[in-house]
Amino acid sequence: MSSATPVTEPIVFRWHQAEITAIAPVTSQVKSFRLRCDIAQAYRAGQHVDVRLTAEDGYQAQRSYSIASAPDGSGTLELMVEALPDGEVSGWFSEAAEVGDRVELRGPIGGSFSWDGPDGGPLLLGAGGSGVVPLLAMLRQRALVAPQIPAALIYSAHTRAGAIALPELERLAGDGTGFSLHITTTRDAGGRRIDAALVAGALTRLGRPEKVFLCGSNRFVGAASDLILAAGVPAGVIRTERFGS
Ligand SMILES: Cc1cc2nc3c(=O)[nH]c(=O)nc-3n(C[C@H](O)[C@H](O)[C@H](O)COP(=O)(O)OP(=O)(O)OC[C@H]3O[C@@H](n4cnc5c(N)ncnc54)[C@H](O)[C@@H]3O)c2cc1C
Repeated sequence: MSSATPVTEPIVFRWHQAEITAIAPVTSQVKSFRLRCDIAQAYRAGQHVDVRLTAEDGYQAQRSYSIASAPDGSGTLELMVEALPDGEVSGWFSEAAEVGDRVELRGPIGGSFSWDGPDGGPLLLGAGGSGVVPLLAMLRQRALVAPQIPAALIYSAHTRAGAIALPELERLAGDGTGFSLHITTTRDAGGRRIDAALVAGALTRLGRPEKVFLCGSNRFVGAASDLILAAGVPAGVIRTERFGS
C-alpha cells in the first residue's frame, strides 16, 4: 500500500481570496484600499502582492501593488493605487471597486526589498511618485517597533497636493524621533528633480546609512542610485524596486 503525501503549495504561490473592507481617498489620483486576506497574517514592510481581477467572461488582468500598511495583526492589509490614464487595473480600482468586492491576491513578494526593526539602520529611503508606498510601510513599521533608528526619506512627487500621505509623513517627521523628510516637487512653481544637494541634505541629517531602499520609475531609481553612490554610500547597502517606465 502506498501512502500519498499531500503536496501543499507554498503560501506565496497560491492565489488568495481578498475582500475590500474600506476605501478612502489619499490624493485626487490615489485611493487607499483595505483588504481582508490570509496574506495579511504574515508579511514584512516593503513587500508587495500580485492582484488578479477576473471579469464575468473569464478575462483576467494581473498587476503588482506594494503593501502600504505595517503588519498589525488585524487580518487586513492596505494598498494604495494611483489611477493612470486608461489604466486597466488601476482604472478598475479608482472607478469601479466597492466595499465588499472580492479580488485575488498572491504573495507576499519581495523579501530583499523589506525592512523590520531588527534589520537596523540608519535607514535612507528614496521614492518617486507612488514608489513611496512600500517606504511608507517601512516608516510605519519603524514608528511601531524601532522609532530610535534614524531614518530619512527623499520623496520626489509631481506636486505637493499630489504627494501620497504627506500629512502623515510630516507628522512622523515632527515626532522628534529622528526621521527627516526631504520632499521635492517637479511640477510646482520652482520645482526641481532629485539632485546632489537634496541627497547631501538628507545624509547630513542622517549620517552614513546602513540600509537604503529606493522605489519608483526606472528613471527615478537610476538617478537616485547614481546620486547616492556619488555621495559615497556603498552599493552593497542599496536595494531598489522599479514600478515600470
Ligand atoms: C513591485 C511593484 C509594485 C507596485 N506598487 C504599486 C503601488 O503601490 N501603487 C500603484 O499605484 N502602482 C504600483 N505598481 C504599478 C502597478 O503594478 C501597475 O503597473 C499600474 O497600476 C498600472 O496598471 P494599469 O493596469 O492600471 O495600467 P495598464 O493598463 O497596464 O497601462 C499602464 C499605462 O500605460 C498606458 N498604456 C497601456 N497600454 C498602452 C499602449 N498599448 N500604448 C500606449 N500606452 C499604453 C496606459 O494608458 C497607462 O497609462 C507597482 C508595480 C510593481 C512592479
